Amino acid sequence: MYIVTIDPEKCQACAECVEVCAVQALSIEEKDGKLVAVFTEDPEECLGCESCVEVCPEGAITVEEW
Ligand code: SF4
Ligand code: SF4
Repeated sequence: MYIVTIDPEKCQACAECVEVCAVQALSIEEKDGKLVAVFTEDPEECLGCESCVEVCPEGAITVEEW
């Protein structure tokens, strides 16, 4: 199982990570008045492929085995 953390300070809501994720584990949502990428509530969906980490231009994403 993997847990994906997105730093809301770094995220610019470009949605590159949302588009690259093969299992739709990421989405763009409004959080504290700012649009940011958020990880699904179901960590079992994540494959741990780190495609989102590689594509993020802001270095906002980390993937950890859980
Ligand atoms: S590690 Fe892969 S499967 Fe998991 S959220 Fe990122 S792109 Fe999606
Ligand atoms: S790729 Fe990075 S900056 Fe773009 S929405 Fe995802 S986390 Fe935010």
